[in-house]
Amino acid sequence: MAQRKRQYQPSKQTRQRNYKSYLESSKWKAKRDTIMKKAGRKCRVCGAPATEVHHVNYQRRGKERITDLTALCRDCHQLYHEKLEEKKKREAGKTRKNSRKYWRK
Ligand SMILES: [Zn+2]
Ligand SMILES: [Zn+2]
Repeated sequence: MAQRKRQYQPSKQTRQRNYKSYLESSKWKAKRDTIMKKAGRKCRVCGAPATEVHHVNYQRRGKERITDLTALCRDCHQLYHEKLEEKKKREAGKTRKNSRKYWRK
């Protein structure tokens, strides 16, 4: 494997810890349940029973809107994140120069 770039930010760790406790809160559980019900407790991708809620974006983390979240099964969720990571890595290299143009394409 190629070497990984590590960008260590202490504040990120704190954020993650706060986020983790948020995911254990009843507030999040209620929200999660709403998403699950809305999706009919089925994965949005393959239709299998949904077990996880995915953040479509993290812009309102902690104050998510219903549209920021989607129900997925474990497999699709993992796949989604793997693909997302790959995409990020690929795009990090090529969008730097022309990111605006790339966006608007
Ligand atoms: Zn699925
Ligand atoms: Zn996710």
